[in-house]
Amino acid sequence: MARIVMKFGGTSMAGIERIRHVAGLVKREAERGHEVAVVVSAMAGETDRLVQFCREAASVYDPREYDVVVASGEQVTSGLLAITLQGMGLNARSYMGWQLPIRASGHATGLIEGIDVAVLERVFDEAGIAIIPGFQGVTTEGALATLGRGGSDTSAVALAAAMKADRCDIYTDVDGVYTTDPRIVPRARKLDLVTYEEMLELASVGAKVLQTRSVGLAMRYKMPLQVLSSFEDVPGTMIVDDDKLEERGMERNVVTGIAHDRNEARVTLVGLPDRPGAVAAVFGPLAEANINVDMIVQSVPRAGERSDLTFTVPTASLAHSVAALEGVKGDVGFSEILTDTNVVKVSAVGVGMRSNAGIAAKMFATLAERNINILAITTSEIKVSVLIPEEYTELAVRVLHTAYGLDAEDEG
Ligand code: ADP
Ligand code: ASP
Ligand code: MG
Repeated sequence: MARIVMKFGGTSMAGIERIRHVAGLVKREAERGHEVAVVVSAMAGETDRLVQFCREAASVYDPREYDVVVASGEQVTSGLLAITLQGMGLNARSYMGWQLPIRASGHATGLIEGIDVAVLERVFDEAGIAIIPGFQGVTTEGALATLGRGGSDTSAVALAAAMKADRCDIYTDVDGVYTTDPRIVPRARKLDLVTYEEMLELASVGAKVLQTRSVGLAMRYKMPLQVLSSFEDVPGTMIVDDDKLEERGMERNVVTGIAHDRNEARVTLVGLPDRPGAVAAVFGPLAEANINVDMIVQSVPRAGERSDLTFTVPTASLAHSVAALEGVKGDVGFSEILTDTNVVKVSAVGVGMRSNAGIAAKMFATLAERNINILAITTSEIKVSVLIPEEYTELAVRVLHTAYGLDAEDEG
């Protein structure tokens, strides 16, 4: 007998037919004698719809109330899955975030602070199945909190860690982690194993198959994590420790995968004074407003002239960012704020980069051959990212995938 968490994403929960199919998968694990907790997402498209309502209600909205609205999608699917399982004769019940509770701090991008598993232990003692809405928790004030987009993955891994599960299975609409988004590059290859470290980096630069924080948690707790399809009964991708790859004597590509992220917006401050403290005066208020600045480029001013400062923020934080910057415009002394949401960040990730030079150069040359202009660059030990015009997303991902030798062999 094992203790497992099964997490089902939005596509898997979209409609009663699919929920019935999910119930079948849950039943199968329960009948194998496992202790099962199920974490569910809202139906595909539902969270987007709810977010859109908030935006229409006000361009800058209270995150506390946003959480009240957007947490509702998961409440619906948890109840529906419990009803379906009960209809199949199984002892299943839903438990909302506040009922366990899943304690969270902060709104809209809340962090899980702890999960009480006493209720779950009782459920397992009675051979029951617990259904838990992903994406939500409860603050110390008793308010609903949500965990950021894609947060059900994090709910699942946190729950698995708290209940000392043997593994956490993430069921989704693809059958594993690929070398890039298989919906963009049909020649992407499925990876049998990926290290926590690589998955963490891939997720953080936009491979939305797992929320970044869920991978960080899995890594910290050494929780075996598997990504697999809820539609096809085939082996998925295991996210594992570094030693596991070495144990199996696996060769590593220098680049493991390519990811892209359309959720970044470019902000340029024109005419920033060339003096110590000017940059700090810009980023201070953004940090206070909890806005994550990612890529940063500053033009070098000629003697006595002003410079331009370009950086990226999450598109969802653009309105907040501009509001915060408008507030300090006079004090800092820049003349204009330009914004552009038609940009995409494309990244190559791989642990093998540590010992290989020329990865970035290859990226720049490959994009240059296609006449794709680079607007900003960032690098880390195992990653190179460029910001480019959004219209080149598919082309850039495809040519880089080929350039780094990641394409699947031609079939037949
Ligand atoms: P869920 O609703 O199950 O949480 P998501 O839409 O959040 O599903 O994540 C699954 C999607 O992630 C896939 O449909 C795929 O388009 C996308 N994706 C992006 N990069 C990758 C990758 N490297 N491997 C697999 N899927 C990826
Ligand atoms: N429903 C939430 C979202 O779409 C959480 C999730 O599905 O992981 O972001
Ligand atoms: Mg997801």
